Amino acid sequence: MSRRHQLAANLEAVHRRIDRAADKAGRVPGAVTLVVITKTWPADDVRTLAALGVEHVGENRDQEATLKAEELVSTPLCWHFVGQLQTNKARSVASYTDVVESVDRLRLVGALDNAAGSAGRFLRCLVQVSLQEGEGRGGAQPQEVPRLADGIEDADHLGLAGVMAVAPLGAPPEAAFARLAEVARRLREDHPQADMISAGMSGDLEAAVACGATHVRVGSAVLGDRPPVG
Ligand SMILES: *Cc1c(COP(=O)(O)O)cnc(C)c1O
Repeated sequence: MSRRHQLAANLEAVHRRIDRAADKAGRVPGAVTLVVITKTWPADDVRTLAALGVEHVGENRDQEATLKAEELVSTPLCWHFVGQLQTNKARSVASYTDVVESVDRLRLVGALDNAAGSAGRFLRCLVQVSLQEGEGRGGAQPQEVPRLADGIEDADHLGLAGVMAVAPLGAPPEAAFARLAEVARRLREDHPQADMISAGMSGDLEAAVACGATHVRVGSAVLGDRPPVG
């Protein structure tokens, strides 16, 4: 099977999973947007995905994403940044990213605002929420979300779009995604337009859709298993 056929078949299977989960949850068709996470896969794959109708792609490393975004500058795509982000990478990320999903501290808000301002760009931002105590899989603790949200809203070149989370490892994802839905509900009380909930990956997208995710971030179920990082 050609790579294009393989990607088309995988995409179709993922869309079926999303549709079935949305239907089961009584949500309207089209309520969930697929963001294909293309990290470790070549720009050629991203180009093929775009030709197959994918509109949103996500990356988690600035260096790799920069090269792909440059190569695909004339392909209409919405680029999401989903990885841990150091402030010294803000300038680079702001040059090609449309949605930064991993905003987890105020210092990063300032750096992204400055970077977007000097690039003449506007960045939509999600507050990444940690769904477990301690270090976990990144993100701010739920009680820090209002301060970060206000910081993003006060920034001239950033817009608050909602929240993002990764489910903790080794625990059922439903409880975690339900907590995220509650954080999102409280956020919308102060910021009604911040209605995006990015949750769910290849292994747990059904649970995320059941808990109200508006965006799922799917890598391996579309592109295949990533080669082990050396
Ligand atoms: C890699 C990654 C994904 C996609 O994971 P898969 O299990 O391959 O679907 C989603 N979100 C983030 C933040 C990631 O880094």
